Amino acid sequence: MTKTKTTLIRGGTVVLGQTVSRQDVLIRGERIAALDNLSDHKVDAEIDAAGLLVLPGAVDTHVHFNDEFMNTTSVHDYYTGTLAAAYGGVTSIIDFSNQSPGDNLMSTLKNKKEEAEGKALVDWGIHSVITEPRPEVLDEIPLLVEEGAPTIKCYMTYRNEGLMVEDSDLRCILERLRDAGGMLMVHAEDNDMIEENVPRMIHSGLTRPGYHAKSRPPEAENRAISRCIQLVRETGSRLFIVHMATDKGIELVGAARSEGQDVFAETCTHYLIFTDKMLEREDGIKWICSPPLRSQSIQDRLWAGLQDGRVSMVSSDDAAYSWEAKLFGAESFDKCPNGIPGIEPRLNLLYSEGVSKGRITLQRFVELVSTTPANLFGLAPQKGTLAPSADADIVIFDPHAKWTMNQESLHMATDWSAYENIEIRGKIEKVFSRGELIIDGDRCFAKKGRGRYLHRRLNQSIKASL
Ligand code: MN
Ligand code: MN
Repeated sequence: MTKTKTTLIRGGTVVLGQTVSRQDVLIRGERIAALDNLSDHKVDAEIDAAGLLVLPGAVDTHVHFNDEFMNTTSVHDYYTGTLAAAYGGVTSIIDFSNQSPGDNLMSTLKNKKEEAEGKALVDWGIHSVITEPRPEVLDEIPLLVEEGAPTIKCYMTYRNEGLMVEDSDLRCILERLRDAGGMLMVHAEDNDMIEENVPRMIHSGLTRPGYHAKSRPPEAENRAISRCIQLVRETGSRLFIVHMATDKGIELVGAARSEGQDVFAETCTHYLIFTDKMLEREDGIKWICSPPLRSQSIQDRLWAGLQDGRVSMVSSDDAAYSWEAKLFGAESFDKCPNGIPGIEPRLNLLYSEGVSKGRITLQRFVELVSTTPANLFGLAPQKGTLAPSADADIVIFDPHAKWTMNQESLHMATDWSAYENIEIRGKIEKVFSRGELIIDGDRCFAKKGRGRYLHRRLNQSIKASL
């Protein structure tokens, strides 16, 4: 019998729930064995973490690998995407599996598992995306929940891309998910408003990237958010609004929750880092995403929403399209694939812009990037915390390091970068995934295919605790 390896992370500052304290962390095999003053322990390996932060591995529940969209496919697959994730301190990801025309949901799940096979470096899960809500497709919802994929996404827009689901179908999906113990994720933008704005602008010669944002104003998002929250009121289901990017959205979510509705929302890194000013640049197509980047005042409100809890977490919405594909929009914004790569820089940017600049506390930061995504998406208590018996997914982080983020310093597979010369405070030194040191400085030791499927189960009593 081979002996189970033990590693002691000594003397680091450990963030565990609301407590920040100096603790040793003992890893035994794949799990955290103990936290305490463990300096007498005999171990196989020791790491000196004095002066460093010891954080739970980040959880990114919103990434698009091999995503076919707007005449292209995202360049992150389960190898390149999880490689960038690992460098960014992300030890669990959840990817989307779009239902293809004529296909059922179980087969999309199977296809995604095959895509991941032999490739993933960190642990991964799947959300199905319903695009054709036929009766037999809705019948599969309980099966998906059983397969450990209890979160399903629907789009309220992108009719022309074949993704949109009508409100009447959303209601049926919400009911089925409620009964099966699942949660609906929605991309909330009002399709009618966008479908009216885009051709009108294009025909008037208003084709620059800035018009992308003007064609999808905050009002388009707010209308859709109001509608899906109303469906929750009527069905008593659980709803998660992805990539929320308006101040009014925060108010709507806050109001629904104070009524006792089971409604949660995330925002994404890019809405917290960039404003719509980026779209005015010559290379503005880099920042075309949907919902679009917003004004400075909305960005300030998003940070405030993260602080006061109405916005529950931050994901990346990693949608990494090649420069060649982004250039489809060079002459006309409506042809540019909507999306920004971001799986790698989320933890660094949130720490630097959030904690280091005093907008959020260190504890809140850990909740936003790790603990809450794990809790809401059915990965707790295995992921998202450093408690004994949790998986030893650990980031060792130097809070004082200074560096410049740009294309050269990142490992994402895109041949361009939206993150150019950003001054960063704080640096990831080491990353452990299930007890294995996978990142050490510039080196990655993870073997292809070591990542495991995350069989998820939602915690139905979570409402009261958030
Ligand atoms: Mn979306
Ligand atoms: Mn997305």
